[in-house]
Amino acid sequence: MNDADAATTAEHTHCLRCHRALRSARSRSLGYGAKCAAKIRHSAVDLTDYKPHQIASARELITDGAIIPLRNTIFITVSTDGTETYKSAPTGCTCPAGLKGSRCYHQLAARMLLAA
Ligand SMILES: [Zn+2]
Ligand SMILES: [Zn+2]
Repeated sequence: MNDADAATTAEHTHCLRCHRALRSARSRSLGYGAKCAAKIRHSAVDLTDYKPHQIASARELITDGAIIPLRNTIFITVSTDGTETYKSAPTGCTCPAGLKGSRCYHQLAARMLLAA
């Protein structure tokens, strides 16, 4: 199984954050248990450099289960149209914007998950 297959798996059996078994259908599609999902929603991240639409996109990435922990601070993220995957960290990303050195919402989503 390659990274892209892992990232596009629709159903999660275990929480991506604490690795506990997920029972409810909602948790399984989200990839996070209720407690972890709440922690992620309320994680304190410095948002000053981000525009509102980037913040919304980062939250969406998390609630869509389109950002999957790979190792340490590296995540696999799925592009908006679902055709590409990127490697994203809090300070870097392999998406077109990230490669140009811009702060993309993938990096923000990684930050939100790590701060939770
Ligand atoms: Zn959890
Ligand atoms: Zn990116």
